[in-house]
Amino acid sequence: MLKIRMSSPRLQAQTPRPGSRVAIIGGGYTGAIIAKLLAERGIRDIEEVTVFEPREQLGSGLAYDVKNIDVRLNVAAHRMRAIPGAPTAFLDWLQTSGTLTVDPQAVTQEGIFARRRDFGRFMQSKLAPHLDSGAVRHIRHAIRIVERENEQWRICGADGTIVMADILILATGHPPASRPPVVDRLSASATSRIKDVLAADAFNEIGKCDPVLIVGSGLTAIDALCRLKALGHTGTVSLLSRTGLMPRPHAGGGFSPFGDFNSTDLTSARKLLSKVRATIRDAQAQGIPWQSVFDALRQHAPSLWQALPMRERQKFLGRLRRWYDVHRYRMPPQGAAILGRGIDTGWVRLKTGDLVSVTEDRQELLAGLETREGRTEFRCRHILLATGPDFLNYAAHQRFLLGMHRDGFIQSDPLGLGLACDFAGRALTVAGTPDTTLFVGGPPARAAFGELTGVPEIAAQAASLADRIIGCCARETRTIVISPTM
Ligand SMILES: Cc1cc2nc3c(=O)[nH]c(=O)nc-3n(C[C@H](O)[C@H](O)[C@H](O)COP(=O)(O)OP(=O)(O)OC[C@H]3O[C@@H](n4cnc5c(N)ncnc54)[C@H](O)[C@@H]3O)c2cc1C
Repeated sequence: MLKIRMSSPRLQAQTPRPGSRVAIIGGGYTGAIIAKLLAERGIRDIEEVTVFEPREQLGSGLAYDVKNIDVRLNVAAHRMRAIPGAPTAFLDWLQTSGTLTVDPQAVTQEGIFARRRDFGRFMQSKLAPHLDSGAVRHIRHAIRIVERENEQWRICGADGTIVMADILILATGHPPASRPPVVDRLSASATSRIKDVLAADAFNEIGKCDPVLIVGSGLTAIDALCRLKALGHTGTVSLLSRTGLMPRPHAGGGFSPFGDFNSTDLTSARKLLSKVRATIRDAQAQGIPWQSVFDALRQHAPSLWQALPMRERQKFLGRLRRWYDVHRYRMPPQGAAILGRGIDTGWVRLKTGDLVSVTEDRQELLAGLETREGRTEFRCRHILLATGPDFLNYAAHQRFLLGMHRDGFIQSDPLGLGLACDFAGRALTVAGTPDTTLFVGGPPARAAFGELTGVPEIAAQAASLADRIIGCCARETRTIVISPTM
């Protein structure tokens, strides 16, 4: 009697030791790092890793597929920790690739803040050997339909390509920003002057002296300011924020994370806030900046988030999220300097309020703002939307996701943060059970993790996802008994 290991009796005649086929939809940073790890760590158990990504390069995605050189990472290079097991890989690459020679402005007192485009180039360099060897296959098409067929995933690309996979990973990243309904009732010519700042043509029509209103005041708005500055814009730029809160700057001095957030008692948003405030007081008493407290908080985010009951998570999102975000997502020093100088010279004006109407007045747009002082009107020529990706009802934002939802494979998470999944990244079906063949990677999985937007957090999730998938694949290669007469 002969014993062999195989993943499926169907494949018995083809290979004595087949592995699983993994498909990843989305080849931004998340899809790319998962593919890289699967190719390196799953060499024995994974037969094929296919990444569907319409962009030319893997590893860039929305954040790093930028042509211009004016937008920078908002995290210092030594903190990017993009490659699990090689925490200084990006810093090393910056130094050895000559990138810092071309871009000496990246070096600041607060650390090295490289161009976002260069991080994309770094990721491409890390993926290149796997693409060259064939361990990772890049199919440059968007996915339109995903179905289940004979215990496999049947994945159909926009061009008709069909790939069958045992394991499917959804790494579709950031959805587009939602447009405020008030901008959709305008003529075509007015609508063409209201753009998502992340759109490729967002700045094309803006004249140097045109007054611009940026809706939103987070890091995306700071990027827009940097871009306008680089284009030589001299008209006024107004940043409209609902809360009046702006991203905070980084601290120099190379301080380590400060604070112990391991307590099991932090089970409400209020307790968490008190603990953060107390820790900041302790830090400042020792001459340590508050930024170090947020760095420690960020490291403990998954366990803190999981300790919060659902009601408290909702409270956090409703009352503390914006406050948390402006401290956590900090401006690169170069962007902070542009903002500071802009305010000083009057180029940039900060406004607090809600955009409640937009009308046309000859060549201008008249924005109606609801502020604390009442309703005001504001004239501008262009409106840039920097409100950030809209994760609400994630399962409905693409046709193939909607189809998977209708078939019961996925559901949006109830907090509006992405897709429902467990801490292992397994997608929860409509019935609420984890699917062992379907995973969610990166930002859409953050409802389970609390904090899953920055590269270091995604890298950590990617590593554990890759190990789990490889573990599953290894277990699924089961021993079957074949008679010698076969
Ligand atoms: C503007 C911006 C700046 C940032 N800056 C920093 C920073 O400085 N430091 C930091 O740590 N983090 C930063 N982040 C956060 C972080 O790096 C991102 O969250 C991360 O890159 C997420 O990558 P992703 O691959 O999950 O998503 P995305 O970058 O959104 O990529 C998703 C990819 O999926 C593809 N896709 C979507 N649907 C389909 C489909 N149907 N078929 C095939 N492909 C599909 C898209 O083409 C896209 O390329 C930034 C994020 C943004 C948006």
